[in-house]
Amino acid sequence: MTCEKSKQLFSKAKNLLPGGVSSPVRAISPYPFYTKSASGSKITDVDGNTYIDYCMGYGPLLLGHNHPAIKEAITKQLDNGWLYGTPTELEVKLAQRICNNVISVNMVRLVSTGTEATMGAIRAARGYTGKNKIIKIEGGFHGAHDAVLVKAGSGATTLGAPDSLGIPPEFTKQTLQVPYNDIDAMVDAIHGYVGEVAAVIMEPVMGNIGPILPMEGYLEEVRAVTRENDIVLIFDEVITGFRLAMGGAQEYYNVIPDMTTMGKVLGGGLNIGVIGGKKEIMENISPAGKVYQAGTFNGHPLSMACALATLDVLEKEKVHEKVNLAGDGLRAMLRDSINDLGLDYYISGVGSMFKMFFGDIPANYQEALKCDKEGYFEFFHRMLKSGVFLPPSQYETNFLSTTHTDEDIAATVEAYEKNLRP
Ligand SMILES: *Cc1c(COP(=O)(O)O)cnc(C)c1O
Repeated sequence: MTCEKSKQLFSKAKNLLPGGVSSPVRAISPYPFYTKSASGSKITDVDGNTYIDYCMGYGPLLLGHNHPAIKEAITKQLDNGWLYGTPTELEVKLAQRICNNVISVNMVRLVSTGTEATMGAIRAARGYTGKNKIIKIEGGFHGAHDAVLVKAGSGATTLGAPDSLGIPPEFTKQTLQVPYNDIDAMVDAIHGYVGEVAAVIMEPVMGNIGPILPMEGYLEEVRAVTRENDIVLIFDEVITGFRLAMGGAQEYYNVIPDMTTMGKVLGGGLNIGVIGGKKEIMENISPAGKVYQAGTFNGHPLSMACALATLDVLEKEKVHEKVNLAGDGLRAMLRDSINDLGLDYYISGVGSMFKMFFGDIPANYQEALKCDKEGYFEFFHRMLKSGVFLPPSQYETNFLSTTHTDEDIAATVEAYEKNLRP
């Protein structure tokens, strides 16, 4: 297995792109592989090595790489041009279908990324309530904008400190954070700032530190306390939306927020973001209301076409039933493997999301931090050598797609066993 071309590209890239990459997680030490092509469950690098992919674009590719129906949607749309700066029928159709599927949503603003979606949702919640503070969950990731880049690890009701240079501390002082799966901390934060909290924003399943699942009753309790205090509950379903079920985690767990942000899976691999919610809140967004939101690429025709094609496939092929079952099977096999090997590791996940924690079962971010991160990273490299591309971090979820075959899964379990063996 040679990686010479990738190695050379990365040394060149380091002088041209900060850290050599266009987004931080891709800067895999000592150098990442550079992709030439991808199809189905497989990704092939510029040196000709092929891997079974569980990164899947970090979430969007539930239907796998290079899906024929998505490709056809792109090609068809290309014949008509791809950017107009005017409304299209595509966006009306897509809005209707999102509203039909996602219980909390009866109006949407279609944007280009998950980052824009959460930024817009928070602004809409603040505009609607006339309040400024928000509560987020420690370790929760909602994209790379000022309000949500807040250092995880401070105490339950501590005012947040920025997690990045370049963010005025005054901004993040508006962001409170609490540990996941701890309803008492949430209630304390809300009671500590009565009448000041506009929104709680959370991933219903913590996808960016695991996945870590909600404990029995937790989401229901968050729903109840936010309702009692007139706080807008925003579920950030950029990962779980259209992945766990057609109606996302809110359908899967039957807990209905006031607003929902989506992205990733819906776009089928093209960029998309959705701000969705009750009409009463959504009608505050410009030009209907006074919460400003705009974008040159909002409702991009290619993304709309891909999203509609994605929904067609998801509905016609009953994708969630199948891929969630495959997830159950894979998790069971991995659990057997760690039992056989006598390892104290934990297999987490739900539906098509899974992860092996190199440590105990975590309930929140602080507990997840106790895992053997270095051990995981070494394991990542061994898996890559065995032809399996896992996300390079202990804290990025692994994703199954509809294109992972039984043979892929068997080869993957075998690689896990081989590379876990001391
Ligand atoms: C990926 C992600 C985002 C950001 O989406 P982008 O399209 O990368 O801007 C927001 N929230 C969650 C939960 C995500 O996983």
